[in-house]
Amino acid sequence: MASIEFVQVTKSFDKHVIIDNLNLTIEDGKFTVLVGPSGCGKTTLLRMIAGLDPQTSGKVLIDGKDVTSIAPGKRGVAMVFQNYAIYPTMSVRENIEFGLKNNKVGKEERTRLVESISATVGLQNYLDRKPSTLSGGQRQRVALARAMVKKPSVFLMDEPLSNLDAKLRVQMRLELIEMHKKLGSTFVFVTHDQVEAMSMADTIVLMNQGEIQQEAPPDVIYREPSNLFVAQFIGSPPMNVGDLGIDGVKFAFRPESAVLSEQPGDFHFSINGVIATREMLGSETIYQVRAEEHSYMVKCTEDLFTVDQKIHLGVDASKIYLFGADEKRIHD
Ligand code: ATP
Repeated sequence: MASIEFVQVTKSFDKHVIIDNLNLTIEDGKFTVLVGPSGCGKTTLLRMIAGLDPQTSGKVLIDGKDVTSIAPGKRGVAMVFQNYAIYPTMSVRENIEFGLKNNKVGKEERTRLVESISATVGLQNYLDRKPSTLSGGQRQRVALARAMVKKPSVFLMDEPLSNLDAKLRVQMRLELIEMHKKLGSTFVFVTHDQVEAMSMADTIVLMNQGEIQQEAPPDVIYREPSNLFVAQFIGSPPMNVGDLGIDGVKFAFRPESAVLSEQPGDFHFSINGVIATREMLGSETIYQVRAEEHSYMVKCTEDLFTVDQKIHLGVDASKIYLFGADEKRIHD
């Protein structure tokens, strides 16, 4: 197991500064998810930990040791990519034990390790199969097993689930949580998918344009977003934001925090509007309510209203967030 620290790390590509003076500690044994929009620098951070792309200045420490001059293969980290690299001509067993052979691990020990890891990822009955006969999810598990078998203290994963279909992605998310529990190693997982981040992370590191916006457990990120960017990145549909018309202060509320009714209720924030769209998703319905030039998304557990219906939208004071002109949340 190992902690990872970035100390005043800057990374430039061709004089273009991508990450400027970043400080971050990733805790030992935790499942940390780096999340943010495309191009915000998530992969760059991961590659700096792996040693594939050295930082321009500053230090990266693994387990307290400066790893700047340590080669990628000697850092005790394993990386799994979106386009999992497995050898098509080798069986599952050969793929998993490949790295061990290279490291001159004896045959008996190799067999023991392959059997134990393949059971961890649920591939024990597929060891003699070729990758071409496996499903996408099973192939991704081979890639995970190949990385795991070397017992890395740090597991780096760059969007490893993005090539899988929606159902398999949900299953693999649960499997990764299980694997993390069993292995106890430090997991750093990169994704641009907020649902993946929310469902798997012990800690979310939310980034934008090379800067950390907030670093906290998922429930804190959701309930106490530190700024408008975080508030709108997490949650689907995103938080509704409106202008208070005073000193640039904005108010915001989550779609599930609003109450729709035919009669006006006793709410801190209350408007009259019309249902503009209705999206029935099974267990919930998402309405778009139009009020003058604004529109608000509302998530309801019941499907009670129809398009063009006149409606009252109310939000309780405790569910309203305020953000200042600097976009930071104003604490009450
Ligand atoms: P995505 O979700 O799209 O993979 P990301 O958050 O992982 O995005 P990075 O791949 O870290 O983003 O890229 C961050 C920025 O650095 C981008 O603007 C990208 O164009 C730039 N960049 C990354 N690698 C290089 C490189 N080798 N040369 C030049 N610019 C690069």
